[in-house]
Amino acid sequence: MLCSPDELLQKNQALSGAWERYQAAPSFESFVELAVSINSFTEFLIDKGVTALHHASHQLEQVALALFSEEVTHPLPQHELDDLRQRIGALTRMTAAHANAAAGLVERRQDRTQEAPHNLEIGHTWLVGHTPEPWRELLAQLGYFGIGAQFFTWSDPLPENGDSSPLLLLDLNSLPVTEWGERIGALRERYAMGQIIAIGVRSEFEPLQQALRGGCDGCLLEGTSLHGIVERIMELNERQEQEAYRVLIVEDSKTASHLIRRTLEENQIISEIVNDPRQALNALRQFNPDLILMDMYMPNCTGVEAARIIRQHSEFLSTPIVYLSGETNVALQVDAMRLGGDHFLTKPFNPVFLNAIVKSKIERYRALRRTMYHDSLTGLLNHSSGKHTLDMLLSSIAHEGGFLSVVMMDIDHFKQVNDSYGHPVGDQVIRSLSWLLKQRLRKHDVLCRYGGEEFLIALPHTDADQAFLIIDRIRQDFSQIRHPFGDSHFLATSSGGIATYPLHRTGDTLIKAADEALYQAKRGGRNRIQISDA
Ligand code: GH3
Ligand code: MG
Ligand code: MG
Ligand code: MG
Repeated sequence: MLCSPDELLQKNQALSGAWERYQAAPSFESFVELAVSINSFTEFLIDKGVTALHHASHQLEQVALALFSEEVTHPLPQHELDDLRQRIGALTRMTAAHANAAAGLVERRQDRTQEAPHNLEIGHTWLVGHTPEPWRELLAQLGYFGIGAQFFTWSDPLPENGDSSPLLLLDLNSLPVTEWGERIGALRERYAMGQIIAIGVRSEFEPLQQALRGGCDGCLLEGTSLHGIVERIMELNERQEQEAYRVLIVEDSKTASHLIRRTLEENQIISEIVNDPRQALNALRQFNPDLILMDMYMPNCTGVEAARIIRQHSEFLSTPIVYLSGETNVALQVDAMRLGGDHFLTKPFNPVFLNAIVKSKIERYRALRRTMYHDSLTGLLNHSSGKHTLDMLLSSIAHEGGFLSVVMMDIDHFKQVNDSYGHPVGDQVIRSLSWLLKQRLRKHDVLCRYGGEEFLIALPHTDADQAFLIIDRIRQDFSQIRHPFGDSHFLATSSGGIATYPLHRTGDTLIKAADEALYQAKRGGRNRIQISDA
């Protein structure tokens, strides 16, 4: 699901190449290269749904890192070499088997970037079980969220062509636990790139052990609510859309900065280099990095000075800064950290460690930003960052030309939902609409939880009529989602108002006009979308 066989093979070839180079010229430097490519392969395999491969690669990484020291002499002792050779050989054979199993079935999914359609579907979702009965409701719900899941029985053949990386939901309950490993293993082999989730698993040690050992990426326990399952599927879908990490390298030495860039590239981290620290502010604004790698000693300005200057700008207050320096003076390092640094790496840096530090700092930074700019219930932009993003979008549209439609969407009679079913159920209804919107809109559309059960949506390069078609379809589908309550369910509806740039020119006037159209839709009977007639 999360990578192509070609990518997988390429990554593995890089590792084999580094191993050959080490054997040809065994030195600390070539061993570092080898360790980096093993680390890079292991990192690459995280979350790709190739559990067995990841495990083997991780073991190899542990072995290599244990040998990662300037005290170890090269070539390594024969028994260490044999161990590495055996592990690298096994990993390469496993990779080839996985890639072959997937090849031929591959129809590379289109890159869902800029010009993806307004109505996109995630990769195939297949549910395999004894009978579809217990899952009818799940299949229907997924359908409303734009995920057309197909049901297969354990004896049905799964499709031969199409996606090599499906999401497989397995209902293993009709099979004896002793058979699970074999069944899951066979699917794992065939869909090396897929995600496999066992659903409705009994919450006991043995079935869970069998499912995970067999190669499932995760298990959803028996009794997990329908929403719980849908949420997990949505998460799997979102995870692959994470944007690449971005690092700004501030370093006067061209050689050092390119070495760092190459190390980061091994881990799919995008970087931008600034050789003159006085350019750092401009680069920050243009490149918008998740982290700054800052050299300590540069002409014109030290790293600490540059960090202080950067920290005077509130928008970069929380951007992590990691210093890179030959400096081993601890007192100076502590000072550097006090003055706004987050970590200190000494040169020559251990590239595996560099990547690990960079990644963990960025993960925390992104998590922090999520809480600052996003709403905790839905994960969408919050009120103020939604408005801000709309303004930014408007200025670029004003520059490029074109339409931009703004939609205000609000759930109908929501007070009654809360009154009849309680606030937590109300929250779940809000999340359903947010899931649906996330599923249907394009990556560069703006999606914001504007108020309690009110959403602000901005659709660039979309005129009012196009916006109407998209939003009205979402309105219809939302009205069919069954919200579970006890043993039963209820339905909810929504209304929306649309206003379009350039008819309305500023963020505030667009929102106001969309809001007025929304009230017209409410007055007109609700469960409808209204285009502003102003
Ligand atoms: P209308 O069709 O006119 O929109 O009627 P309505 O009942 O939906 O009216 P309104 O939009 O004014 O009501 C919003 C209600 O949403 C009021 C508030 O109690 C509730 N609400 C606001 N935020 C939340 C939230 O985070 N969770 C839940 N469960 N309810 C919320
Ligand atoms: Mg320097
Ligand atoms: Mg409402
Ligand atoms: Mg409201």
